[in-house]
Amino acid sequence: MRRSHPDRPPNGALAEALFALSELEAPGERRVALLKAGYAAIDTTGAARQAALRDAPPWLKPLVSQLADCRGEGALQAAVQRLANAGGRPRRRGARDRFLARAEAAEILASRPDDLLPQRLRGAFHWHTRDSDGRGTLEAMARACERRGATWAVVTDHSKGLDVASGLDREGVLLQRKRVDSWNARHGDDLHLVQGLEVEVLEDGGVDVPHGERGEIECVVAAVHRQFDPDRDQTERLLRAIATPGVHALAHPRGRHFHQRPGLRARWELVFSACTDHRVAVEINGFPRRQDLDWELGRLAVEAGCDFVLASDAHAASHLEFDAYACAIAIKAGVPHERVLNAGQLDAFAAWIADR
Ligand SMILES: [Zn+2]
Ligand SMILES: [Zn+2]
Repeated sequence: MRRSHPDRPPNGALAEALFALSELEAPGERRVALLKAGYAAIDTTGAARQAALRDAPPWLKPLVSQLADCRGEGALQAAVQRLANAGGRPRRRGARDRFLARAEAAEILASRPDDLLPQRLRGAFHWHTRDSDGRGTLEAMARACERRGATWAVVTDHSKGLDVASGLDREGVLLQRKRVDSWNARHGDDLHLVQGLEVEVLEDGGVDVPHGERGEIECVVAAVHRQFDPDRDQTERLLRAIATPGVHALAHPRGRHFHQRPGLRARWELVFSACTDHRVAVEINGFPRRQDLDWELGRLAVEAGCDFVLASDAHAASHLEFDAYACAIAIKAGVPHERVLNAGQLDAFAAWIADR
């Protein structure tokens, strides 16, 4: 769990060095090997050096060791610069800013034993099943939530919208509803399932679930998955989605993706105060490549008075543990316990839904 040596670069810094060096390589095997080593370093709970070395080709091993032996981040950066040689100036991409390495998230949780820990979350919020793009059945995912200690859970498969072909249509929603009801009749005392739906925020801020269908759903989670246009300020789009009646939460608000895209540009103080006004919960999505919101925007949302949900966005049972990243980000952002809807019991969440 802990870094192997206190003077050595943290896992995230070693990973970043490998990512930055990968970008100076032409597309090909060298670039891929550096990227793989970077991902291994950022995803391990152990020492980054061992993880990065595990599948590294022979030419890369001394380079990884040299970076991992640097004393402190200044020395690491200097080493990266030397290694870059004539390749250019290594730089950090915006799409890699403010992500926690897995070991870093574990350290935050270990150092705050009384805070928002994943094992204390009562509700497992935002996960997918085979009914849309998940890998597990509803029942298998529900059992996995229960094993992790949840007493309630909100399944949020994608709706079949303009762009999501594999999502649930109206009939699919009703069929899933029957299985949710039947689970609750048999196992509801141990784990109560709430049927949610993850719906698209369209380019104009409309939400692509017809009103009739929305009435069937207990918890609607709106999210942007397309049209990120980095040159456009997306505040109005988000404000319109937030003001749409029947929307309960804004999922992965920026839509960023590690190493790929920095996500939406918006005047976030306006977005978060609209969430507070319309009582739309703000999600901290713990999927490792999303980590959305990051802790800086999380702080802004705390100041704006928002309620939060901490989510795994699991697409398989093994992903449910990604709520640990969401907890670590929430702790770093200073999110108070009482503002986290899925830290509490089901009746408090049901009252919050009913009271809107
Ligand atoms: Zn999503
Ligand atoms: Zn999702």
